[in-house]
Amino acid sequence: MDLALNFVATVGERWRANIERLRSPSDLDRWCAETGLGRPARPADNSDLARARDLREALHRAVRSTMCGTGMDVVDRRGINEWARTADIPPQLTAGGCIERAGPPSVDAVLATIARAAVMLLGGADADRLRECASDNSSTLFVDTSRAAARQWCSKRCADRINAHRYRRRHRSAT
Ligand SMILES: [Zn+2]
Repeated sequence: MDLALNFVATVGERWRANIERLRSPSDLDRWCAETGLGRPARPADNSDLARARDLREALHRAVRSTMCGTGMDVVDRRGINEWARTADIPPQLTAGGCIERAGPPSVDAVLATIARAAVMLLGGADADRLRECASDNSSTLFVDTSRAAARQWCSKRCADRINAHRYRRRHRSAT
């Protein structure tokens, strides 16, 4: 999944419950580790968490306005650009010729890495392939890379859930 959209998804079910998944600084540390960016060298504190949430909400609004074709808020755009100018996590070559992130990173480097990914996404060719999952239980934003650009679900899990729901509905109306 796209790094910036993955970060935006740390708030779940935005249209109703707004489930905050970064409730404490340690949640931010865990998210960094789970996404492969690396657990921050210095554990995140409350100020890190506040800045992370600020960037995340700016990204969410920026993605939304890109999807709707409305102009991006100037303060959001400046905030994202400012983070994108900050030093990010440097990519490194492994002995096997693969790319890995130099670690452990600072929280600022993590946020800069996310902001750069967002700039590339929102300013790049995939910007018109941004979609919101059609599942009732998921507000996940994703990049539809399918050839027909007609994918409706963010994940196989959501696709399965919707198909099961449709099957049950069909089955009910048939009996
Ligand atoms: Zn979904």
